[in-house]
Amino acid sequence: MTQTAPSLVDTYKRRITYLRLSVTDRCDLRCQYCMPERMQFLPRAEVLTLEELNKVANAFIDRGVTKIRLTGGEPLVRRDMIELVRAVGRRIGNGLEELTVTTNGTRLAEFAEDLFAAGVRRVNVSLDTLDPALFEELSRRDRLSQVLEGIAAAKAAGLSVKINTVALKGVNEDEIPDLIAWAHGEGHEATLIEVMPLGEVDGDRIDHYLPLTQVRMNLEKRWTLEGDTHRSGGPARYVRVAETGGRLGFITPLTSNFCDGCNRIRVTATGQLYACLGGREQVDLRAAVRSNDPDAALDAAMDEAMTIKPERHHFAINRKGEAPALPRHMSVTGG
Ligand code: SAM
Ligand code: SF4
Repeated sequence: MTQTAPSLVDTYKRRITYLRLSVTDRCDLRCQYCMPERMQFLPRAEVLTLEELNKVANAFIDRGVTKIRLTGGEPLVRRDMIELVRAVGRRIGNGLEELTVTTNGTRLAEFAEDLFAAGVRRVNVSLDTLDPALFEELSRRDRLSQVLEGIAAAKAAGLSVKINTVALKGVNEDEIPDLIAWAHGEGHEATLIEVMPLGEVDGDRIDHYLPLTQVRMNLEKRWTLEGDTHRSGGPARYVRVAETGGRLGFITPLTSNFCDGCNRIRVTATGQLYACLGGREQVDLRAAVRSNDPDAALDAAMDEAMTIKPERHHFAINRKGEAPALPRHMSVTGG
């Protein structure tokens, strides 16, 4: 059995094949651009259970989703995370082509082998610096060595690793080339991300906004960046660094628009489906999955989502003192 029901196609004729499913809003780090130190986490009763998350994932696979990324918050801090990975992983080769995880890496050493055994072949690990002091300042926790151990364990377990780095002006800006060189030297892909205006954080985000066009110009002074035709169906655009032989991605929501080919949908840990990371359009899947007829209700909710997916996002960087473009944090929507 693979796809058993009609594909998910939105009003702009984009076929949805990629689900980013957040399994928790909680996290063991407090990255400054992501959440405040005293982040208010959701009451557990509001978060979907393992069975509910699995049901949602399966409903999407039945409607043609072929790729699922489990994210958060920090997915590996959820106690039953590996059970969920195993459950969803059973659909690999049976509708699902790929199951991936985005993690901050702090607990990867513990779980890398289990992830591989459950069918995961690639993980994205967020890492903004290799400097222990800066790591602690940025994430408000002293965990760099654990993250590096986690990345090494992932590689040893046979997982492909992509290093995701948020480019922050005056913070890790000067270190970016060294970070990329390190990642490529270890055999990992690297992707740079522009900081996005999501949720209230302590301090002002515009101070750290660094356009990737500028980063790219700086990199071109040091390296030859060759065109790479690789496309993930997502917002990243890729180059190959001739000198390192590694692939480098750029995710630029603010300096370029990538919505035309958008194939993805996001579901929060409380079952709110967001049709766009940068929009407010949402459908309540928790009500559907907790209803008397969850299968029919989930189908109807997915169909509704297709009618509200906006043509494009409307991010904007704010001037000092203004509320962020969207009140919800990346850790809630799932990065
Ligand atoms: N905790 C996991 C991690 O850090 O990889 C998964 C969730 S995290 C929200 C996913 C990604 O979103 C991370 O790469 C993080 O750096 C990024 N992120 C968080 N807040 C962001 C923001 N405001 N702008 C851009 N990227 C952000
Ligand atoms: Fe946690 Fe990831 Fe947000 Fe950092 S970016 S605070 S690791 S959810």
